[in-house]
Amino acid sequence: MKTPYEDFGSMVFSESEMEERLPRPVYQSWKRTVINEGTLDRVTADAIAHAMKLWAIEKGATHFTHWFQPLTGSTAEKHDTFLEPGSNGQPIVRFSGKMLIKGEPDASSFPSGGLRATFEARGYTYWDLTSPAFIRDNVLCIPTIFVSYNGEALDRKDPLLKSIKAISDASVRLVNLLGDKDVRTCHPSVGLEQEYFLIDRKYFEQRIDLRLTGRTLFGSPAPKRQELDDHYFGSIPTRVAAFMKEVNQELWKLGIYAKTEHNEVAPGQFELAPVFCDANIAVDQNQLTMDILRKTAEKHGLACLLHEKPFDGINGSGKHNNYSILTDDGQNLFSPGDKPAENIRFLTFICAFIKAVDTYPTLLRMSASCTGNDHRLGGNEAPPAIISIYLGSYIDSILYSIYKDKNARSENTRTKGEFNPVTNLSYVPHDNSDRNRTSPIAFTGNKFEFRMLGASMSAAFPNTVLNSIIAESLNEISDQLEGIKYIQDVRDKALEICRGIIHDHKRILFSGDGYSDEWIKEAKRRGLPCVNSFIESTKILDDPKVIELFTKLDVYSKVELSANRRILEELYIKKVGIEVRTMLEMTRKEVLPAMLAQLKFCSETAASAGKFCPAYLTDLIKSISSLTDAVNLAYKDLEETYEAVDTETNPYLAGLEMYSKVNPKMEALRALIDRYETVAAREFYHLPLYEDMLFSLQ
Ligand code: ADP
Ligand code: MG
Repeated sequence: MKTPYEDFGSMVFSESEMEERLPRPVYQSWKRTVINEGTLDRVTADAIAHAMKLWAIEKGATHFTHWFQPLTGSTAEKHDTFLEPGSNGQPIVRFSGKMLIKGEPDASSFPSGGLRATFEARGYTYWDLTSPAFIRDNVLCIPTIFVSYNGEALDRKDPLLKSIKAISDASVRLVNLLGDKDVRTCHPSVGLEQEYFLIDRKYFEQRIDLRLTGRTLFGSPAPKRQELDDHYFGSIPTRVAAFMKEVNQELWKLGIYAKTEHNEVAPGQFELAPVFCDANIAVDQNQLTMDILRKTAEKHGLACLLHEKPFDGINGSGKHNNYSILTDDGQNLFSPGDKPAENIRFLTFICAFIKAVDTYPTLLRMSASCTGNDHRLGGNEAPPAIISIYLGSYIDSILYSIYKDKNARSENTRTKGEFNPVTNLSYVPHDNSDRNRTSPIAFTGNKFEFRMLGASMSAAFPNTVLNSIIAESLNEISDQLEGIKYIQDVRDKALEICRGIIHDHKRILFSGDGYSDEWIKEAKRRGLPCVNSFIESTKILDDPKVIELFTKLDVYSKVELSANRRILEELYIKKVGIEVRTMLEMTRKEVLPAMLAQLKFCSETAASAGKFCPAYLTDLIKSISSLTDAVNLAYKDLEETYEAVDTETNPYLAGLEMYSKVNPKMEALRALIDRYETVAAREFYHLPLYEDMLFSLQ
């Protein structure tokens, strides 16, 4: 019998597959290119393409595609077949090194924020050697970066790869300075936990809002919500179990180690966590995972909702970005070691992280934001969008004692080298049981968990930001250590730098309830930014400090950053626009007709009952009648407000108007419709209700 794991990685042109199938020099040349110690020549590329083609055809592939991540946050592909007419008219199967390395998808309608003039609308895709090719549905997918004719990034992967180089270089430099000279490369490692909702597909199909916008634009709360917490870690319903089994098999075939799966807090909500891997691959795999979740759900008569807030009043879905930096010899730089020297390194990296986050809180907040995430962050019923770090009481106390030590030393009561807290770091509990679930960034033993990301987002940009801000912070520390002769002096200096960082940046550390109102006040007092909406956060991309950060590290150019900003703002306007139009259409086609039909039925019943008409009916008629008038007014108000927004001239200002003027009108209309839902009779009102959608899979 076949074991469930037998197909693991069978659809990936993995490193071991390459090692086995390629001539040794070709394999080595590829390897050197991956670790940035060489470039790929034509002969090598041709040899790899040939081996890849044979492998893919053996696996049943008929087409190939350059798989890339445009700025919209999704993935894109254009399929080409391997078949070509040969010189004697017979079809031949061809796939050259040139076709592997460079493609021209001619995708002139992807957003470019003005980076491509229409006469040079062409974008080019280049093979990303660090992420393996794979096969899905008989198509060989080649992960690629997507750039304009002038080499500007038109995707999210190119900057991510550049930021990976920046963090690797910065980490190696500091690790070397702190005494470990053997380390030559470092990798940011990422594990992305993915939350999602599942509902019966028939309900999904009946709701235009779910189909077009990913979330319910109205719907009154079900009698039962999540108050019993009985869904969390409860037993997985049979249909869902069958779905998860197939998802796992698909993921395993693509070499993705899906590790845990469980019910989340909200009814109908689930989570999937893969085992962490290199940041670039983790981001690619997460894009694939979302796609597999969606498609497999369809096969099982389910719909997978990846929107951040599909249902009001019910927990939203996020993506938790677990982040650490590993050296080429397998050391985790956020993991305390057994030796004091390693502990100083650990502390330095932790402090570099603290400094990075406190220097760029708004950029980080922006990187984790999207239209949908506004309903999960900073909005009503959502936690405040304030960046802070929770370290856990143990690390807190260590940092505190180091900080205190400074004052003690300035009073000359301590002698050099006496850093007791530092020597005891090996006792740091790897599984912090006192985890603070309300913190947007938490240290969890040997990694930082960044929890703000929206469930539907690509994790590429948040990781580009993390890599870049930490790289800058590490470089600034290294600058101060460079040139110090003796290693003990280097370490002493590093500790002094850590003290300075704790002193300057301790305001970003917070272990209380991040969801409370007091925190908003306290954060304000500390001067921490609280940016409530995605659209207000985008301007950070034009901030001189941010431009300097990215240009200095060669991750983004100034032009690319403002193009990105423009694209995000245009996307925001479009998405809210779709929501508004969908809401208006549903009101017109579903809600108002239901109200009128029910009103008619009630009036006729009342008339036929004559003097026996029950008070209940009279009340109901009054209530539906006045609600119908109110809905009518709110409808017009929303329509007019939306139409008054000038979406052409300035996307930022238009976005702000959408946020501050149009959104409240949507809420107002929603409130009325939700009220009607509580008295709507199923006979007239045909939209699936919250109780249908949320509790249909038990
Ligand atoms: P929880 O839900 O309690 O946060 P999970 O076990 O569901 O924890 O997920 C933890 C995630 O963190 C997994 O994806 C795991 O692979 C990842 N992870 C573990 N160690 C590291 C590390 N050193 N660097 C990055 N990610 C890591
Ligand atoms: Mg988590």
